[in-house]
Amino acid sequence: MSVLPVTFQCGARSVIGHLLTCFNTIICGLTDVLTEARKLLAFQRELVGPMRFLTELPATSESDAASRLTTTFPPPGDTMSSALQNVAEALTLDTNQSPYKRVEALIPADSPLHGITSLEELGEWLASNILVPIDETRLNPVLGAGNPTANLMVIGEAPGAEEDKRGEAFVGRAGKLLDDILAAIGFSRRDNVYICNILKSRPPNNRDPRPEEVAAHIPMLYKQIALVQPKILLAVGRQAGNGLLQKNVSLSSLRGVFHDYHGLPLMITYPPAALLRNQQWKRPTWEDVQLLRARYDELADG
Ligand code: URA
Repeated sequence: MSVLPVTFQCGARSVIGHLLTCFNTIICGLTDVLTEARKLLAFQRELVGPMRFLTELPATSESDAASRLTTTFPPPGDTMSSALQNVAEALTLDTNQSPYKRVEALIPADSPLHGITSLEELGEWLASNILVPIDETRLNPVLGAGNPTANLMVIGEAPGAEEDKRGEAFVGRAGKLLDDILAAIGFSRRDNVYICNILKSRPPNNRDPRPEEVAAHIPMLYKQIALVQPKILLAVGRQAGNGLLQKNVSLSSLRGVFHDYHGLPLMITYPPAALLRNQQWKRPTWEDVQLLRARYDELADG
């Protein structure tokens, strides 16, 4: 039998009862919060697929999303360099010429690239010339990879860290995803794709290419197009698309349609590295590459 007075026992019982009620209320509240959070996550998963975080809700529109992807190029207020102004002149070139002659005509008239007749020679020239400071800081020059007589050429922005280490375009995670995308439409880099970039040297810390770097390196891409003679082009990323077309617009306004690149059909879509971060761009990319495949087949039949 308890030795405590009856009044004390009653008081203690009521305090414990009160605490239990409070505890119950807190648990119910937490359960509600968890239920709401679970509902929100389920809704988010429906929109953008699994493994997303609350802070990474999809952008409100594609152009918002594209503008988050890269910064503007050229920077606001920057004027086109003289090498890039050649592009505008060459656009007026005789459209009866082959696309390869028209693209080669974009190379500045005094460039030693005019004397180069093979990809091997081009690779040697690249390795032995410093055109801009990133050519000094690179570990390896990255000319291109894949089949040098391919009908499809894939063009990216610039080598990343892994490409710089290995001297090969699109290796690492983004490269693996690019290979998967190409495989999904029946292509492989070994058999029927040539892959390269606008820049042949890695910009430090993967920063955006600078206009003077593009001006110095893009003539090598023109030479690659003239030597490989692809029937169709796929540019991956806003920088690559704008670099080719000399524009400065959002990726969403470039993708989903064919551009006429001096007589060659050019499709522009999301870069694989962006798809690794943003699941919601997989669908539009899939639509773009299916259009690419259909046009490729038409060209093969015609
Ligand atoms: N790897 C490349 O080689 N180019 C890109 O644009 C991105 C990754």
